[in-house]
Order: sequence, then C-alpha cells, then structure tokens
Amino acid sequence: MSYDLIVTGSGPGGYVCAIRAAQLGLKTAVVEKNATFGGTCLNVGCIPSKALLHASELYEEAGSGFAKMGIKVGKPSIDLSSLLAYKAQNVKSNVDGVAFLFKKNKIETFHGTGRIAAPGQVEVKADDGKTQLLETKTIVIATGSDVARLPGIDIDETRVVSSTGALELSKVPQKLLIVGAGIIGLELGSVWRRLGAEVIVVEFLDHILPGVDGEVAKQFHRMLQKQGLTFKLSSKVTSVDASGKTLKVKVEPASGGAAETLDADIVLVAIGRVPYTDGLGLEAVGVKKDNRGRVIVDQHLRTNVAGIYAIGDAVAGPMLAHKAEEEGVAAAETIAGQAGHVNYDVIPNVVYTSPEIASVGKTEEELKAAGVAYNSGKFPFSANARARANLATEGFVKILADAKTDRVLGVHILGPDAETMIAEAAIAMEFGASSEDIARTCHAHPTLTEAVKEAALAVAKRAINF
Ligand SMILES: Cc1cc2nc3c(=O)[nH]c(=O)nc-3n(C[C@H](O)[C@H](O)[C@H](O)COP(=O)(O)OP(=O)(O)OC[C@H]3O[C@@H](n4cnc5c(N)ncnc54)[C@H](O)[C@@H]3O)c2cc1C
Repeated sequence: MSYDLIVTGSGPGGYVCAIRAAQLGLKTAVVEKNATFGGTCLNVGCIPSKALLHASELYEEAGSGFAKMGIKVGKPSIDLSSLLAYKAQNVKSNVDGVAFLFKKNKIETFHGTGRIAAPGQVEVKADDGKTQLLETKTIVIATGSDVARLPGIDIDETRVVSSTGALELSKVPQKLLIVGAGIIGLELGSVWRRLGAEVIVVEFLDHILPGVDGEVAKQFHRMLQKQGLTFKLSSKVTSVDASGKTLKVKVEPASGGAAETLDADIVLVAIGRVPYTDGLGLEAVGVKKDNRGRVIVDQHLRTNVAGIYAIGDAVAGPMLAHKAEEEGVAAAETIAGQAGHVNYDVIPNVVYTSPEIASVGKTEEELKAAGVAYNSGKFPFSANARARANLATEGFVKILADAKTDRVLGVHILGPDAETMIAEAAIAMEFGASSEDIARTCHAHPTLTEAVKEAALAVAKRAINF
C-alpha cells in the first residue's frame, strides 16, 4: 500500500493534519496505537477535563450562586458515577466524530504502533503482534506527549494518579494533594475541590502558573486561596509512602531542609508532560531530538531527514491542542506545495478555572526581559455592567501595547468567560492592531467584552467607566 502521506498519531495535531492533506488531494493514511482516535486531548485531556470543570462549576453555582439571585433550589448533590458517565459520553461523541471525519475525507486508518522503518516506510504493529509495511512519500510524526514522572514515585492511577487517573476517581477524595501548580493541576484541583475534596497544592517555584503574567498569577493565587485551595510554594515532594491506608507524602523546602509529612487519600502528580516518541524508531532513521526529547524541526516543521515532518507536543513550543492543530495544517500545506505557516506570537493560552485566565502574546515579564518599552491599560470587571449583573466581578483585562507604535503585544484576561474574549485579542493581534484600533471598535452593551475595549482605552489613560 502506497500513500502520499502517513501521519503517526491521531491527536489534534495528527487528525487535523490528515484532514487538511486529504482536502489538498494527498492520498493520506493515519496510524494510531490507541483503540480510539483523538489523542490525549479528546480521550484524557482537554475534553474530559472541560466536561468535569463545566459540571462541577454548575454544581457549585447551584449550591451557592443561585440563592444570591433569588433562585431557590434544594441543596444539590453529586451522583459521581453519572457525572463520570456524562464525561465518558462526551469523550465518545468527540472520538467518534474524528472517525467519521476520517471516513468523510477518505483517509485510511490503521490501528497499531507505527515505526518508521526507513524514510518512506512505516511499519504498523497491531495489538496481536501482526505487522504491515506501508509505503509513503512523506511522514508526519504526531505522537504527542506523556505524563512527566517524579523519580521514585510510582503512578498507579488509583491512589497516586496522573491527570488521566484524576479524571476517573471513583469517589471524591477527602484529601487530595497535587504536585505542581500548573494549568492541569489547578484545573483538576478546582474540579475536586468543588465536589468536596480538601485540596493542597505543592509547588517547587515560589509562584503558581509558571509562564502566566505575574500580576494575573498573583491575583489568581489569592482567589484560589479564597475558594479553599491550600498552597505550599517553594516546596518539593520527595516521596510518597503508599504502604498504609493513608498516603504519607514527604514535603521538603525546594532549597532543601527539614521535611514534613502530609497525609492524603489521593496524590495527583501534575508536573508537566514530556514528548512521546517511544517505539517510533527515530534513532535508526537518524531523526534528531533535542536534550528534552523533542523532535527538532525547522520553521516548515521538517526534521533533518528528508520527507519526515513533526508537529504538536512531540516538538518544541507550548503543549496545546490548538498549537498542534495549526502545525498540522501548516505541515499538510507545506507537503502539498503550499506556504504553510504558524504565527507563534499569537497562540492563546487558557486556564479553564473559575474565574478563567486567558492570554495571548507577551507577558509584562517577557517584555521587560526583552527591553521592550510598552504601555499598559487595565480595566477591572468590577466596573463592567454585565459582570456586575452576572455577579462575576473578579479580575481584570490588561492590554500591553508597544510604547512607540501602540501595536498590541499582549492581552491578559482574568475573569468570567475569558476563554471567549481572548479570541478578539488574538484576531486583533493577527491583524497587527494597535490598542487604538480596539478602543475605537464599537463593542455591544452590556457585554463582558466592553472590558477589553475599556482596557484598550486605558492604554492611553482614557477609560470611560473607571
Ligand atoms: C488533563 C489535560 C488537559 C488538557 N487540556 C487542554 C486544553 O484545555 N486545551 C489545550 O489546548 N490543551 C490541553 N491539553 C494539552 C493537549 O491535550 C495536547 O497539547 C494535545 O493533545 C497535543 O496534541 P498532539 O496531536 O501533539 O498529541 P496527542 O494528543 O498526545 O496525540 C498523540 C497520539 O499519537 C498516538 N501515538 C503515539 N505513538 C504512536 C505510535 N508509535 N504509533 C501510532 N500512534 C502513536 C497516541 O496514542 C496519541 O493518540 C491538556 C492535556 C491534559 C493531559
């Protein structure tokens, strides 16, 4: 069997790449080692976590938010198995959707582990051990990432879990200890805290959410504490003793010193993810990786071996589904002879907690480090009419614009529905907008998006409502 393109991996990078290639007339096949398509994102990442975040947020709202608006409901309760079934159904409809799209676009699919036997050859080993050799003009590596592990701490996915196990807990833990205050740890911590767990987060750094704008992270840290999460910053987990009924977790200061032992029912290890290229045979064909195991690619997503490309979590850059998708499209277009391109300056990042955090472009810390002169405009949701009506006034919008040209360099939103509002900022930045452009764009009233317009006005110190 011979193809123009074989994509190994059907996550958001791989499946989008395959569909775009098929649209462009390439004879395309996908190799996937999982039973279902969709990769980390659809099976054990974005989709199931957002289902749990959505349901747990409504549960909390029904329990405490409704009464403030005069809506009386009885004390809500959680049927955890139904909640997990709703999440599973959500995952199923999404992964089935990818299978449907493959058929619709006449993409051939192979279930099994793909190995690059040679440039132009992919061997597929099925679960029963049978192998098949496929011929192809080009290969895209889209094998994604895996959970990063802590040395000496075994993840059994029952009591010591990764994000995958934390999406499947069979009962609400009394005490959940999370290692790592990154996006995944805080999202899943929020879910289980809302459902009734006592949550403590241990973080090596002296702040939460590394990479997020410092002012946003600081204010959000305070909000999470108000919600009931406990933090141990500048601390490291060195061991977990699982021999007794309760997990005994040893926590030391990050810089070393006396350890303390904390009890927990569940420990969630959420210290990040590492690129996954095991079993692909990259060494044998000579595809180079960097010192963090990421496949090295040029700006056209080409590896050092002709005809082999790589995208998504398997290469450098933010480990995000939409970044993988953009790279999938760019790789397919390049392979088809078009000018595939990804604008890495405009990749939004969202933390789906309550309130949400969404950002695009540079943080203040990054601009300072690069010596870029900028103006900042900030507008609080407490001064936005719609946020007040919705009783969701925490947070702010901050816009950073070049001091000389006024071009928008970064937008940071901490507040309700930040995930939706960040798209306006991304489009503005993609078009090279100035803060003046956003400030002079008519925004509907009363909407949360008026806070974006007001933050843009605030860059020139002329916000109207604050
Ligand atoms: C809990 C959690 C929540 C997340 N939430 C978000 C979010 O809200 N938004 C967001 O943007 N990102 C989120 N992410 C990150 C997102 O899931 C990843 O960035 C994204 O899935 C990367 O896509 P990918 O296509 O590169 O790889 P993956 O989605 O990891 O897919 C890789 C696929 O390759 C397959 N594979 C691997 N090796 C082989 C082989 N040799 N042969 C055949 N198949 C192979 C794997 O089985 C897998 O299906 C989340 C991640 C987690 C864990």
